[in-house]
Amino acid sequence: MGVWLEGRTLAEKIKEEVKEEVVHFRRTANEVPGLVGILVGENRSSQIYLRSKEKTSQALGIASQVLTLPAEIDSRTLKAQIEELNRREDVDGILVQLPLPSHLKAHDIICAISPGKDVDGFHPFNLGSLLANEEGLKPCTPMGIIELLKFNQIPLEGREVVVIGRSLIVGKPLAAMMTNENATVTICHSKTKSLAGVAERADILVAAMGKPAFVKPEFIKEGAVVIDVGINQLTDAAKARELFGEDEKREKDLADKGYTVVGDVDPRAIERAAGMTPVPGGVGLLTVAMLMKNTLVAFKRRRHLEP
Ligand code: NAD
Repeated sequence: MGVWLEGRTLAEKIKEEVKEEVVHFRRTANEVPGLVGILVGENRSSQIYLRSKEKTSQALGIASQVLTLPAEIDSRTLKAQIEELNRREDVDGILVQLPLPSHLKAHDIICAISPGKDVDGFHPFNLGSLLANEEGLKPCTPMGIIELLKFNQIPLEGREVVVIGRSLIVGKPLAAMMTNENATVTICHSKTKSLAGVAERADILVAAMGKPAFVKPEFIKEGAVVIDVGINQLTDAAKARELFGEDEKREKDLADKGYTVVGDVDPRAIERAAGMTPVPGGVGLLTVAMLMKNTLVAFKRRRHLEP
């Protein structure tokens, strides 16, 4: 039976460090980092995610704003808004909450953000810098995973890492970061043959696929570390009971909200793993903390201060 690799302590530590620096800059230069989140349309989950980012920023002293734009906005107008934010001196970080309405192309919109203000790290310039192992703003979720492994003194050099999922937000940038840390990395995806056989080789297995409890305990090598990135809503009470046994909190979630949040990994995998991140309470907490860190980094780089 392994240990749960909780994200809370590290997330709090990172946010505390950001807050201290923000206080320092406010005191010494009368300046604080500025973050603008762009919400297009009224996607309920996007509203919740952006609100949580805004609340965390405010708690750390970062000047934060959500720009809400109509769902039918055209690409030219949206890009013009972004360009205006690029020019604003008081804005250090710009993020566009994904997904966008289907008539807008995420790649096209993200390309309009100035790379120095791209705190999500999704701009091709920043992704290219990551591949080149050069300085740049890096995607928050993968960065949080690397920090969590380091915090728990789990080495990467020479280890076999298997990443399930090849999105530009998690899987691909994480694979690049792991490679930069000298791990031997395999990426799996929806067309991978015998996923279980590949996953079984992993010293460190990362699941970022968006499929509730898809990764079974038997996919996991005895003593491996498992990082569960998935955030899925499970509505089936019988399935939840099978996965978690008697769990008051989850039963209450199901009764109150109609779902409980589960990862991509069957939680019973903890029996074989040396360590595993819980869902919720694992990687998700680090994503917002790393966004705060990126906003501070962007603020300092724009002013040519030490990173
Ligand atoms: P995505 O839908 O963009 O990508 C999913 C990936 O999984 C794809 O590359 C696909 O090829 C792969 N995949 C799907 N089915 C598969 C299968 N049967 N076998 C092997 N691979 C398969 O998703 P995403 O944006 O990368 O997010 C993945 C999950 O992580 C989601 O649950 C999302 O909510 C969650 N997420 C969490 C955080 C966080 O902060 N914890 C951040 C981003 C995403």
